[in-house]
Amino acid sequence: MIKDKVVVITGASSGIGEATAKMLAKNGAKVVLGARRENRLQAIVNDIKNAGGQATYKVTDVRDAQEVADLVTLAKNEFGSLDVIFNNAGIMPSSPISALHTKEWNDMIDINIKGVLNGVAAVMPDFVKNKQGHIITTSSVAGIKSFTGAGVYGATKFAVRNLMEVIRMESAQEGTNIRTTTLYPAAINTELLHTITDEETKKNMDSFYQQVGISPEAIARVVNFAVDQPADVNVNEFTIYPTKQM
Ligand code: NDP
Repeated sequence: MIKDKVVVITGASSGIGEATAKMLAKNGAKVVLGARRENRLQAIVNDIKNAGGQATYKVTDVRDAQEVADLVTLAKNEFGSLDVIFNNAGIMPSSPISALHTKEWNDMIDINIKGVLNGVAAVMPDFVKNKQGHIITTSSVAGIKSFTGAGVYGATKFAVRNLMEVIRMESAQEGTNIRTTTLYPAAINTELLHTITDEETKKNMDSFYQQVGISPEAIARVVNFAVDQPADVNVNEFTIYPTKQM
């Protein structure tokens, strides 16, 4: 059941996070939004409330463990509990390895891997204590197969795939009933390509997404399905391609 579940969403200021927050709220969840752009978060929360939903936000940089912990605390203070965290914040400044955009490599590691770890650390004590909880993380098809230009991006997404599977296995071993859902989206039309600075890569990706990309609501529907499952059912992985993408 989605109704009245409290869901923390990182990367909620645009794209997949925004679409998911709005859909979950429409279906009765209480959503707690985190990202860096306050004006966008405020506008989305206003939209949700105007549509009759329940939502709040906190400016959060997922690179900062304390800020992510504070986002989780806000959820508990505002809505009384925490049922789900959706670790969705991410960047994709793709480029060939030979171009050596090493600062962007580090940024991806900090946001796409450490950001997810900060989300996991923020919820784990409550989830273990309550013997339940749901961790949803946005990996990518670049986390299950290799793409040129996505060497480091893909490495970060392979990393969170492994992390999520091990959390699932350890939870079963430890009897804590923590559910893990990992998403592997392909080309989704969002603001993600704005993070690409390598000109040739950006040109190619823009053109590719224009040809095949689908809307972020496709991912929102999948997250809604996962959150809606009974407590003893763990829908573990989803791969979502546009029909036009090879
Ligand atoms: P968007 O660029 O629209 O959304 C990315 C979100 O991440 C924004 O809300 C952004 O907010 C947030 N974010 C980035 N850095 C930080 C940070 N340091 N702290 C907190 N929030 C941050 O793109 P998408 O919706 O597409 O991306 C969502 C996820 O989906 C990402 O993990 C991405 O890798 C993944 N994905 C996307 C695919 C696609 O084709 N679009 C395909 C496969 C996976 P702000 O800038 O306000 O902080």
